[in-house]
Amino acid sequence: MTKPKHATPTTETQTAKKPTGRPPGSPNVRETAVAVPSRCNACGSTERGPYLDKAELDFGGVDSQGKPFTHIVRRRVRCESCGQMRIDVTRENRV
Ligand SMILES: [Zn+2]
Repeated sequence: MTKPKHATPTTETQTAKKPTGRPPGSPNVRETAVAVPSRCNACGSTERGPYLDKAELDFGGVDSQGKPFTHIVRRRVRCESCGQMRIDVTRENRV
């Protein structure tokens, strides 16, 4: 009379944890500087020449959309279509 031995329960869950890709919070997008394309306020064209100079302000804050920024960059540029000079101001967020 041999009692059936209690088989050792194999409740060891075999959840082979495979790596879930990149850890949460790691950035996969490089910072985009401008959301709205700059536009000539004289003729409305978005065509523009090369930026002539650039003035950077080490000034941080939060913009009107709640996005943080660390620098304010002003670039002087000439409208390609009518020749009007303007200054494009962008807020950039970098480390
Ligand atoms: Zn223009």
